[in-house]
Amino acid sequence: MSEIPKLEDLESALGDLAGKRILVRTDFNVPMDDDGSIVDDFRIKAALPTINWLTERGASVVTASHLGRPKGEPNPKYSMDPVRARLAELAPGVELLENLRFDAGETGNDASFVAQLIEGVDGYVNDAFGASHRSHASIVGPPQHVPSAMGRLLENEVEVLLGLRNKPKRPFVAVLGGAKVSDKLGVIEALLDVVDEIVIGGAMCFTFFLAQGKTVGASLHEPDQVDVCKGLLAKATEMGKTIHLPDDVTGTDAQGNFAQFGSRLGEGSVGYDIGPGSAAAFTDVIMDARMVFWNGPMGMFEDERFASGTRTVAQAMADTKAFTVVGGGDSAAALAQFKLDDEVSHVSTGGGASLELLENGDLPGLAALRGA
Ligand code: ADP
Ligand code: MG
Repeated sequence: MSEIPKLEDLESALGDLAGKRILVRTDFNVPMDDDGSIVDDFRIKAALPTINWLTERGASVVTASHLGRPKGEPNPKYSMDPVRARLAELAPGVELLENLRFDAGETGNDASFVAQLIEGVDGYVNDAFGASHRSHASIVGPPQHVPSAMGRLLENEVEVLLGLRNKPKRPFVAVLGGAKVSDKLGVIEALLDVVDEIVIGGAMCFTFFLAQGKTVGASLHEPDQVDVCKGLLAKATEMGKTIHLPDDVTGTDAQGNFAQFGSRLGEGSVGYDIGPGSAAAFTDVIMDARMVFWNGPMGMFEDERFASGTRTVAQAMADTKAFTVVGGGDSAAALAQFKLDDEVSHVSTGGGASLELLENGDLPGLAALRGA
């Protein structure tokens, strides 16, 4: 695999950056309040090392990002105006294009939209790790036309996540949870080749319960994925790897009251969190690991009654001596809520992108830069 060009390589390719117009694909997909204000500007701040490096060398920087899911047409709800105002405070003089996803050509990777993006542009930088697993116009298009490089944020993410994949310290444990079950089942299959043990919590565990012949009541589950889960459990056994599932669950009973269950839930019961016994068992696995990757909360942590499984796992991530990486919007938000975000080795800005990079060792956005 050839090297991915860095900012220094872009500078060499262009001779001198002074006066050059550089398009920077950033991930300014910030959480927004209903009143249109920015909840957290960490994604804007995360792009500053790259932006400042370029402006210090006299480049004129034009940034571009998506925000939300506006479905290929302009929608004032997803206007970049609030982001542009904050960016003007943090990096005066830096331009920001309108929401890339106001044009269907972005997700459709249309050649005409790529041409529009690179008009008058001398060079391109991808610093949008969180979008680099998508073959969208602004990610894969420009490197085919102008000298291109990865920005500092992307460089750091790639170094950390490929480090996990290529130089694992064992035991290497993946902790998976969250709600997007079918999205993540494919990841489990690929992760079995990379990690030694997988810990499963969140809504995901219930489809596995069904695969083990247990009952899940009215908990979130995907009946059409039960066979896939059976296959994964069998494959893990065959490979000599362990999949840890919860053996107790917290949730609500048929009357809607807070309740604790074993791993068999009666009719009308709903599991919203791993139970205290499972949280303790998962803590042991994390404490004994030398590398841990965590994606997806252990329960519906937004409700304080069902936050303790996620809090316990977050605390174990903070306490273990292992090298710890957390990826995923909700997982990172949970860590921040428990004020433990400074206690892990790396918080990734990309959920889907970090999983895919672990899984495949590459991303469409990186392949595009390598070909540039
Ligand atoms: P991430 O953003 O970290 O990748 P996901 O988006 O996959 O994570 O999942 C996060 C969501 O999963 C949270 O909103 C949480 O409330 C929900 N969740 C976790 N466990 C359960 C459960 N047992 N039942 C319902 N929702 C759950
Ligand atoms: Mg999420």
